[in-house]
Amino acid sequence: MVHSAKFSADSLVFKFPVPDEIPVSGALFVIVTKCSVAVTNGDKPTIFSKTNPADVVCPVLRVQYLGHRNATACYAVEIAAGTTLPADWQHSGIRELFGRVPDEEMAIAALAIQIMDFHRTTQFCGQCGAKTRQLRTERAKFCSDCNQITYPRLSPAIIVLVEKEDQILLARSPRFPPDFHSVISGFVEPGENCEDAVKREVREEVGIAVKNIRYFGSEPWPFPHSLMIGFVADYDRGEITIDNNEIISAGWFSRDNLPQIPSPISISRALIDCWVERRNPFT
Ligand SMILES: [Zn+2]
Repeated sequence: MVHSAKFSADSLVFKFPVPDEIPVSGALFVIVTKCSVAVTNGDKPTIFSKTNPADVVCPVLRVQYLGHRNATACYAVEIAAGTTLPADWQHSGIRELFGRVPDEEMAIAALAIQIMDFHRTTQFCGQCGAKTRQLRTERAKFCSDCNQITYPRLSPAIIVLVEKEDQILLARSPRFPPDFHSVISGFVEPGENCEDAVKREVREEVGIAVKNIRYFGSEPWPFPHSLMIGFVADYDRGEITIDNNEIISAGWFSRDNLPQIPSPISISRALIDCWVERRNPFT
């Protein structure tokens, strides 16, 4: 692993069985809506509330145990969108937390939104439609009518930096701003391993073949439930031919002519930064 993960909430330990009740004091609460998290203002912003928002902000829609941070139980609490927060709190998107709170808190905030999304979308069994209940022995929902167990959804996606001599392949999606380029990525399909997904995505999007696929690192990407699995690969053969659908332009870039690239929050930027640093003779 050559980059520091930003969204890995590894400071939390999920303890089983899940605690019976929310402690009256001594717990931490992460206040979320469907797509935002509450953060305090001030010199040292934080996402952690030591007060159960049920006592100060109404209405609370759902509560989910996230895990223990050392000896302290952490909970995600969903409030209705549009709820006014106490004076020193404000709503924030997850990406907007970057650089504002410690990486650990950003990761926990992202987990809170992801787990709440899981909780909200699995209230009924996908197989028979009956109401589910939460298991206390693992992070899952159980249907007592048909015994189906539903786990949080994770969608693995590959992301790959393709090298050709001293250049890398960067491509532009139609949803990117002008001049903005990134590395190739895409979801892993059923019946496919990550390496085959790398080969297929590069072939589909830019028409070339790659070889020597090496694992780089992985990163939860909770928008809403991806796991990005990073690779580096070497150009093998073929000419760049864009699909004009997912990609509208692509080319080979050297260190001294890089276009606008993704922000440091992403694994795509980590892939590019590592390549730049490894090859730069002046660092
Ligand atoms: Zn069922």
